[in-house]
Amino acid sequence: MMAQSYLLQNAQRKHPPVETALFDLFKIGPGPSSSHTIGPMKAGADFAKCCAELPQATLSQATCVHVTLFGSLSATGSGHGTDVAVLAGLLGNTPENCPPTLLPNLKKTPSSRHKMCLGNYEIPVGLADIEFGPLQHSAPYSNTLHIALSDASGKSLFDKEYYSVGGGFLQWKGWTPPERGKPVHPYGTMRELSARLQETGLALHELILENEMAITGMGRPAIYEQLESIMDAMYDSVRRGLAASGRLPGTLGVWRKAGGLWERAKSHSLPIGKGMCLLNAYAFAVAEENAAGGVIVTAPTCGAAGVMPALLYAMRNDLNVGERALREGLLASAAVGMLAKHNAGIAGAEVGCQGEIGVASAMAAAMLAHARGYTADVVENAAEIALEHHLGLTCDPVGGYVQIPCIERNAMGAIKAGNAVLLATSEENGQHLVSLDAAIMAMGEIGREMNVKFKETSKGGLAVSMVEC
Ligand code: SF4
Repeated sequence: MMAQSYLLQNAQRKHPPVETALFDLFKIGPGPSSSHTIGPMKAGADFAKCCAELPQATLSQATCVHVTLFGSLSATGSGHGTDVAVLAGLLGNTPENCPPTLLPNLKKTPSSRHKMCLGNYEIPVGLADIEFGPLQHSAPYSNTLHIALSDASGKSLFDKEYYSVGGGFLQWKGWTPPERGKPVHPYGTMRELSARLQETGLALHELILENEMAITGMGRPAIYEQLESIMDAMYDSVRRGLAASGRLPGTLGVWRKAGGLWERAKSHSLPIGKGMCLLNAYAFAVAEENAAGGVIVTAPTCGAAGVMPALLYAMRNDLNVGERALREGLLASAAVGMLAKHNAGIAGAEVGCQGEIGVASAMAAAMLAHARGYTADVVENAAEIALEHHLGLTCDPVGGYVQIPCIERNAMGAIKAGNAVLLATSEENGQHLVSLDAAIMAMGEIGREMNVKFKETSKGGLAVSMVEC
């Protein structure tokens, strides 16, 4: 009864349609954090671009740039590489074109001065120009950064306040959503999406594809091509992580374990042990690459970047799922990520780790279930189960590094995704009582009520207890 009245309330709410594009969700870029690395790098790059368009008379007076990081960007920005990411952006790099070694190299030479290009002018810039500001502030988003271009007297010539709103999405003061097409099959909830599927008779991946074409204006071949790039980047990140060894950067001294897990998987005598060991190895491989600042795909974030590739790689290499089914599964998974972003949030700083690993696990479950040919109802149930059992998960990265608990959490998220599909595919029609909408609504409520110290500040949870015990 309780579940039914909850669903009824949910059904009666009005929901604006999801207008997130596929490649807003899946982005290739450097780790370790989409909100703390990719978003800030985009901010730096946008600021450099805006400055270059200022009048020559203004640019001729410019002598310095100053960046202030607020909220969670300040609290964990050092461990997350936010400062080097903004600097790389100011130097004209974007997440898509950033050389893999650039961020670690900038970090190695903290006192170096670099040249920021302002059209015909250049000014010096370095990590010393980036200030870690207060945790508490009055801007509308926790992950806020302010960048100012000044003259020799310190007078501001141009400034901009940016918000890194999670998953590598960037907004700024006065931001308005870009002009885009409207989805041809509008939906704001899973319930509405299910209704559109029934009305149109489309498969879930086809509906997502048709919406993507309408929103972005891209044709089917271009979308397929970009999806292939995303999948290739995911496979590459698994392979690089499996081949790497040694300790991860930072003061925690965390050892890479993916290669060892993979070796263990090869000799495991029990099929269940082998399967779990493989998923663990693949998830560790990408999460470790992410922690090292390597190139990964946000799915939906950098911190949770290991979950989806773990399943994808296992499906392709160990379960022999074909490329077409994998691509369709990836499209189906995007619906889950978009709904979570739309109705709750996907940033650790906003809703805790439930929005990162929890949503990644739900997306991976949807991908696996869809690729294996199950109905949209089963796909929804699998995603719901995976998300439900991450509700309440806090974001408490030790020392501000995306390593502990993040790397193991990716493996746990991947294993839970597999189990969620097993559970969902074992149910009879009508037996599943919790909707994906209900799980997402619960995540949003828990995220809003969650104490800020558990939202990517490293001021609570394991980030404190591990240091103190
Ligand atoms: S604890 Fe979770 S949400 Fe927080 S940084 Fe790690 S992976 Fe991201």
